[in-house]
Amino acid sequence: MKLHEYQASQLLAESGIPVPDSGVASSPTEARTIAERLGGAVVVKAQVHAGGRGKAGGVKLVDSPGEAEEAARLMLATNLVTHQTSSAGVPVERVMVAERTMIDRELYLAIVVDGEAGTPVVMGSQAGGVEIEEVASATPDKILRIVTDPIYGLWPYQARDLAIGLGLDTEQIRPATDLIINLFRVFKENDCSIAEINPLAVCKDGRLLAIDAKLNIDDDSLFRHPRIASLADPAQEDNLERKAHLAGLSYVKLDGGAVGCMVNGAGLAMATMDITRNAGANPANFLDVGGGAQTEKIATAFEIIVSDPDVKVVLVNIFGGILRCDIAAEGILQGAKRSGTSLPIVALLRGTNAVEGKQILQNTPLNISFLSDLSEIPSALDQATGGGS
Ligand code: GDP
Ligand code: MN
Repeated sequence: MKLHEYQASQLLAESGIPVPDSGVASSPTEARTIAERLGGAVVVKAQVHAGGRGKAGGVKLVDSPGEAEEAARLMLATNLVTHQTSSAGVPVERVMVAERTMIDRELYLAIVVDGEAGTPVVMGSQAGGVEIEEVASATPDKILRIVTDPIYGLWPYQARDLAIGLGLDTEQIRPATDLIINLFRVFKENDCSIAEINPLAVCKDGRLLAIDAKLNIDDDSLFRHPRIASLADPAQEDNLERKAHLAGLSYVKLDGGAVGCMVNGAGLAMATMDITRNAGANPANFLDVGGGAQTEKIATAFEIIVSDPDVKVVLVNIFGGILRCDIAAEGILQGAKRSGTSLPIVALLRGTNAVEGKQILQNTPLNISFLSDLSEIPSALDQATGGGS
């Protein structure tokens, strides 16, 4: 789950990390009032679940409450398109109005769960700011990495090493070390998958300030963070992903694919995506209906897959176990009826009640072909789309 900047900034502040004074507004007049309180020179920032706002016109530095009101008016009720969003963008329903900072240098600081290291890694760079992605790809040596201990966490000496690596003045080393340790605490206590401050500003007066804040929370931990769970903003989610989320499905839309995948079990779903790719086609989504899915959930999953305009063929790969093939088949049939789809379906049903499942789907108006082995997937996909998947 993603948090908005204003929510993340509040959590950082509660953990002792210095952030600019700010407020959040959902109307231009509210933005003006906050700007008046902050003295007029403020930054108006679109609150969306995407980065890259600065380059996309979603961050405006202004000099007066009137200008803040105008900047907010231009941002609110529009969709902001950044390089991290789809071409439709994401709706701006709120703006954050923050005290404007005199920045000397922009640093980068982030903690992520690193799959390869198998533990959180703290990253820091002197080359922070809006170009950090280019820095990471063109000059990765400008990004320092500290691999933390999965049990103990971040040792104080590691935080200090990183602070020194950020090229700070002697008197800034201690506050920077504390800030890094505090960010690690925020990361750990809130079960974050990402905690990022970019830029971490070195102000003209020497203070360090978290100018931007990004926290992503592991969805599977939300049951123990009711306060954070209540900060969810479904309006920021893609429509299909929101529908999937509400139905309890693991669904991720993927760019550029035409094969809608309907699978039970995350491992089988990943393997099915690999098989699709090896067949020279591209999956349009990752979808795991889960072990104990019932008919209704399967029907919703099917509807979600076929309502993605990129999908040209549906690949069903169900291994009947806890989820029986006949239940899956019933769900597919209902989902197909409700959606009225005529897309070709390629289905591989094996395991418990595979025969019954096949019977349910046969002799229906569905445009379905059955396979009996994984190795048949490439030619079946090819045939179903006339080679265009
Ligand atoms: P992002 O583009 O979505 O990451 O939005 P940020 O909040 O990081 O803002 C983008 C850029 O705007 C920063 O890297 C800064 O260069 C600039 N910026 C944001 N707030 C301030 C501020 O208070 N003062 C100054 N001088 N620049 C700011
Ligand atoms: Mn930023």
